[in-house]
Amino acid sequence: MASIELPKELLPADGRFGAGPSKVRSEALAALMAVAPTYLGTSHRQATVKDVVGRVRKGVSELFSLPEGYEVVLGNGGSTAFWDIATFGLIERKSQHLSFGEFSSKFAQSSEMAPFLEDPFVITSTAGTHPEAIAQSDIDLYGLTHNETSTGVMMEIARPRFADGSVAEGLVCVDATSAAGGIRVDITETDIYYFAPQKCFGSDGGLWTAIMSPKALERAKAIGASERYIPPFFDLNIAIDNSRLDQTYNTPALVTLLLFAEQLEWFNTNGGLEWSASRSDASSSTLYAWAEASTVATPFVEKPEERSRVVGTIDFAEGIDAAAIAKALRANGIVDTEPYRKLGRNQLRISMFPGIEPSDVEKLTTCIDYVVERLG
Ligand SMILES: *Cc1c(COP(=O)(O)O)cnc(C)c1O
Repeated sequence: MASIELPKELLPADGRFGAGPSKVRSEALAALMAVAPTYLGTSHRQATVKDVVGRVRKGVSELFSLPEGYEVVLGNGGSTAFWDIATFGLIERKSQHLSFGEFSSKFAQSSEMAPFLEDPFVITSTAGTHPEAIAQSDIDLYGLTHNETSTGVMMEIARPRFADGSVAEGLVCVDATSAAGGIRVDITETDIYYFAPQKCFGSDGGLWTAIMSPKALERAKAIGASERYIPPFFDLNIAIDNSRLDQTYNTPALVTLLLFAEQLEWFNTNGGLEWSASRSDASSSTLYAWAEASTVATPFVEKPEERSRVVGTIDFAEGIDAAAIAKALRANGIVDTEPYRKLGRNQLRISMFPGIEPSDVEKLTTCIDYVVERLG
């Protein structure tokens, strides 16, 4: 197959459309370069670095308009580490999990393997859909996922309610790794809203951040005081104590922290979550409208309200090889449009985080059309 060269004028200004690590804005990098000589390579126990941790905590509080008593906690290991941290330090006896893709299934597995917990109640649904949580009186933590990155399904976050309208007792623990900053949320509907900075926050990986309600902080404290053995690295109370001092338990990646702080401030000075989410709204409207009008492309997620605003999954008709499209795009500097591999579909996956220019998503659709016409 001859290679396809996209005309320069069709190309997006930035070719990064991956679901994480995702596009890092050059303005954030310039800010990093400006402080690098006095910031990088300095002690994480001194004011210079602690100030940046403070900026991150303040930036998160502002972006999500934290209600009274909610706290921003952070530590090393990314969202994957947080599944084990929550298993050790937040589930008292039994959890419920909505499992509808690669990421949402992982927390369920962690809690299932824990010998000190009862088997979790796991509700699954087929790829491209999401199940609903069911209020149950014996559940002390509900594990939800705001945006399932592997399938491009988003769901509304709300506390599970019984038939009579009363709210379930259990903590609502939300994996918002790819949603936080790009999709609106009412934090009062959650007890733990956790994420990592390499998606909407256009930073690097390796860090987890959790917004915790007073009830969640209390739960962590009670479990910490119980008989349960908790390895220090997974000890949420150690992380809480350190976060209150604007530091992490062990050495954090300083680049990750600074880029994260820059993106938070970029969102906050421009209008906060409403502004950042509206950028993803604009990008996703463009993408899905293009796919619906196309004769070869279709949004994978059937229900429009479940189609993710931050990670779009687009199926291609038989005879059109999505892998060949992704390969041709890559050869032209448009990278990471490949689908989540285990989903095994003839699909492209396109991230539309707030840092990505909506006009670039529009250009990407033109590039895809151009490639499809010439694939033959
Ligand atoms: C990316 C992602 C993760 C994994 O994050 P890490 O920081 O790499 O551990 C978990 N959950 C969701 C929904 C994600 O998109």
